Amino acid sequence: MAQNSSSKTLISSSTLISQGAEAKVYKAYLTPDGAPILLKYRFPKKYRHSTLDTSLTKSRVAGEARALLRCLRSGVRVPGIRMVDATEGILGIEWLDGNSVKSLLPSGSSEEGDPLGTQLEVTPRNLESYGLSVETLMHHIGTELAKMHLADIIHGDLTTSNMMVCQSTKSTHGHPRTELVLIDFGLSFQSTLVEDKAVDLYVLERAFASTHPDSEPMFASVLSAYATNMGKEWPALSRRLDDVRLRGRKRSMVG
Ligand code: AMP
Repeated sequence: MAQNSSSKTLISSSTLISQGAEAKVYKAYLTPDGAPILLKYRFPKKYRHSTLDTSLTKSRVAGEARALLRCLRSGVRVPGIRMVDATEGILGIEWLDGNSVKSLLPSGSSEEGDPLGTQLEVTPRNLESYGLSVETLMHHIGTELAKMHLADIIHGDLTTSNMMVCQSTKSTHGHPRTELVLIDFGLSFQSTLVEDKAVDLYVLERAFASTHPDSEPMFASVLSAYATNMGKEWPALSRRLDDVRLRGRKRSMVG
């Protein structure tokens, strides 16, 4: 694991690409001619007691790294881990050259998450340029989510911004392979409960509905691929998803 000082030095020579309330995100290089990495820096929060802040930050970084590792071991496509400095609040992961699913679907902004208007050197692309149809993309999403849930990992913040489409360096029969990669495991946790998996799906369904108009057929395709891959776990999950939807509707009527 990196030393405190070296992680901080790394940050100071990196390019800030986005800043949220919890973390700053940088594009960095561990070696001058190596591949880029993405650094997520959970900076100290002045409003929190410093001892509490340090331990919270440390456990969140370690938790995110653990979730990624569990996904990687279970064959779920997530970014590889490049460095962890939990004490300093820094997680370094594989840099993905791709586009968020949000930006590739109708009404998604061209590239979100860049409030600084900065240096994400992403060439605007569309689904066709990845050789994908909406239907195939939805199938990939459902398949990846099922793998994740079969490994008892709950993402905790499923949105179309937290999924990226990338061209893999590995090729199939000489053609570059297109991959669907799940990102941002900052709110993830481990659970075998049908309820937690159903809520994870419901959060994504709401995200689709609020971000992409007429998304019902898209989400139905996600669920169809998910169901196929979940096998005998699906019937109970489907019933629970209906319950969660009902609770969601009641809540929105109450306000
Ligand atoms: P986040 O703070 O995780 O929402 O990420 C901030 C921005 O970085 C968003 O535009 C994401 O699409 C992008 N991003 C997240 N993870 C990666 C990654 N591993 N490689 C490249 N870009 C990423």
